[in-house]
Amino acid sequence: MQYRGRFAPSPTGPLHQGSLLTALASYLDAKHHGGKWLVRIEDLDRPRCDYAHEHSILTTLEAYGLEWDETVLRQSDQPERYEEIYQGLLNRKEAYLCDCSRADLKNRGALNHYDRFCLNKQNVSQPAAIRFKVTQTSPFEDRLLGQQAISSGGVSDFILLRRDGFIAYQLAVVVDDYDQNINQIVRGSDLLLETEKQRALQLTLNYPMLEYAHLPLVLAEDGQKLSKQTFATAIKRDAKSIYENLMLALQRLGQLTEEPETPDDPVNLLDYATKRWDISKVPKVIKTTT
Ligand SMILES: [Zn+2]
Repeated sequence: MQYRGRFAPSPTGPLHQGSLLTALASYLDAKHHGGKWLVRIEDLDRPRCDYAHEHSILTTLEAYGLEWDETVLRQSDQPERYEEIYQGLLNRKEAYLCDCSRADLKNRGALNHYDRFCLNKQNVSQPAAIRFKVTQTSPFEDRLLGQQAISSGGVSDFILLRRDGFIAYQLAVVVDDYDQNINQIVRGSDLLLETEKQRALQLTLNYPMLEYAHLPLVLAEDGQKLSKQTFATAIKRDAKSIYENLMLALQRLGQLTEEPETPDDPVNLLDYATKRWDISKVPKVIKTTT
């Protein structure tokens, strides 16, 4: 089976050092394995997304030599596809309507772990959310983090469609990965807790299981999360910055410890790094001073 990976940014800001790291790791892992690398724009949270950011992310990836295969998929173009899936789940009673407000959930202590209050409710008031009925999930072996247990208490029934009509991230990601035949995920550890939910949905939908590698978060020298100001600023696109930022990202990923003897060209540098890519060298913690 051919390796198929993807990079799935949300266009809520420009490509920055952190997202470059994720993009680069998923690109190198795919290319090292002779695979395809796809780009997907996760823009369901429309109020926070901006086409200017999407354009900027895509042109920056190109400038850095991170050329994707196939057509870019944009989630906001797929509402009918997501609706088809959640309607099917509702029809098969694998999902149900829920009209609980945030205040209701809080009063019942069910904010973080839904109590199935609406599972067999007859008269649900509109607008209602759609919740996925979790019946099964499975532990998995992360290529970087090792064996992952199911979180204590298990996975609770999560939202597929919000009361305000927004498609939830979990549903879109699972459907898109399936439709794009993705079989390898390399992404940040901030999404690790979402993985067991996505696997529960994949199992119910009879989708194939994927392999995962969750990259460590980049932390400041003192172990704190990096502030927006230091980390979320757009990366520069002049030739010198491109080379330096790629080198920095490769070093953070534990890949190149010394400067390669190649010209200062991103294509040659990526080619060099692709041949030498070894995911086991990615450190457990990435700390930075810049
Ligand atoms: Zn409810």
